[in-house]
Amino acid sequence: MLLEVKNVYKSYKKPFGIIKKESVEILKGVSLSLKEGECLGIIGESGSGKSTLGRLIIGVEKGDCGSILIDGIDISKKNRKVEKEKVSVVFQDYGSSANPRLKIIDIISEPIKVFEKLSKKETINRIIDLLEKVGLSKEYLYRYPHQLSGGQLQRVCIARAIATNPKFIILDEAISSLDVSIQVQVLDLLIQLKKELDISYVFITHDLTAVTYICDRVVFFKEGNIVEEVNCMNKLKNVKSQYAKALLHAAMTMDSREEIYEVQRIS
Ligand code: ADP
Ligand code: MG
Repeated sequence: MLLEVKNVYKSYKKPFGIIKKESVEILKGVSLSLKEGECLGIIGESGSGKSTLGRLIIGVEKGDCGSILIDGIDISKKNRKVEKEKVSVVFQDYGSSANPRLKIIDIISEPIKVFEKLSKKETINRIIDLLEKVGLSKEYLYRYPHQLSGGQLQRVCIARAIATNPKFIILDEAISSLDVSIQVQVLDLLIQLKKELDISYVFITHDLTAVTYICDRVVFFKEGNIVEEVNCMNKLKNVKSQYAKALLHAAMTMDSREEIYEVQRIS
């Protein structure tokens, strides 16, 4: 198993708690797993703790209890550098996750420098190769983030995420800030990279339409707990919990995105 989250709890201290140690529980015993080659969707409304779980998995924060295993190794116990190399992350906010003062070449080379020792020429070749993988040409190398569109910049963030050859990537609302037509293009890129590079995804979102487009399995997240799990996307319509039903209903009535996705897929 690539990733195993076992009974993880996480609470934060209330900033204005009356009692000094007053805290609020965000994750309440979360367990899930990700197999090789899989795309697992985590869907839930805003504030349900999805990003918190993402931060625990990439190891920038620690849970209060429970364990997170990557390739069978508990990341809270072992030398995390080795395990960290296996996980990358792409956030919603491509604008702030790419330093505006750095050129694209420097943004993508950041993680490469941490994990590998390459000469300058090797690094440039590597970055050109990564840019091509995400559908950008080498003419973007020396541009700054503000000279790129949202979709192009998110492609740069994806290039940076795959630069270290991770085994899986946490995509935290990675397409949510993009225009709908661009969302489909980025989803298609992610699907293509998944095949090409043999990577897996944890796809965090509040958007069920995107989940049906890219995920193999999905867990419904509510107030820090998994309330339902769907292991086969064809069975999505059979969800039992009120919460999952409501999300499904909202997705079906909300917009015509499914049609836009479909049109793009055919064309
Ligand atoms: P989601 O990604 O599902 O929208 P988050 O994981 O970002 O949810 O947040 C869940 C809850 O945890 C929110 O109520 C948020 O205010 C709270 N929270 C997140 N990070 C912190 C933090 N560092 N300190 C205190 N509260 C936090
Ligand atoms: Mg979030």
